[in-house]
Amino acid sequence: MKALLVVDVQNDFCPGGALAVPEGDKVVPVINSLLDRFDLVVASKDWHPQETIHFQKWPVHCVQNTKGADFHPALRSEKIQKVFLKGTGNKDDGYSAYEATNENLEEYLKAKGVDELYVVGLATDYCVRASALDAVRKGFKTTVVKDAVAAVNVNPGDGDRALEELRQAGVTLVSSPDV
Ligand SMILES: [Zn+2]
Repeated sequence: MKALLVVDVQNDFCPGGALAVPEGDKVVPVINSLLDRFDLVVASKDWHPQETIHFQKWPVHCVQNTKGADFHPALRSEKIQKVFLKGTGNKDDGYSAYEATNENLEEYLKAKGVDELYVVGLATDYCVRASALDAVRKGFKTTVVKDAVAAVNVNPGDGDRALEELRQAGVTLVSSPDV
């Protein structure tokens, strides 16, 4: 059983948002094209309180119940069967979808019989990286779709380095036509 995890495709991570990933919105049509190929689609959201130590490292973004925390309007979010909220405390970064606090992602996927997880979304070098590494560690056969992710690249090349790290950890990298 294969599932798709859509990581943090939220307004604040797209151009015009508080912590925009360069060309972050370009992943949206690619992700939309993948949604019908999976029986189960889940998503994560960065879902921060107004005050958190996380905002000492990053501009204020994805505050709970704000427009910045909404999914990008072009994402076919009606296909998403469950949303996992992370970074909800005032002391955690919550980069990985497996750190969601409203529901346990690992238990949810295992209860659905999922053994293969495809990861897409934002950003390659933070939340996609952390979520895919956790997926491998927890025993899921894990694939990242390279043209359905985009990187922050605080340091040039961070996104490429993250993909190489994922590959070495056992994550399969594919392009969307090959899914
Ligand atoms: Zn955050």
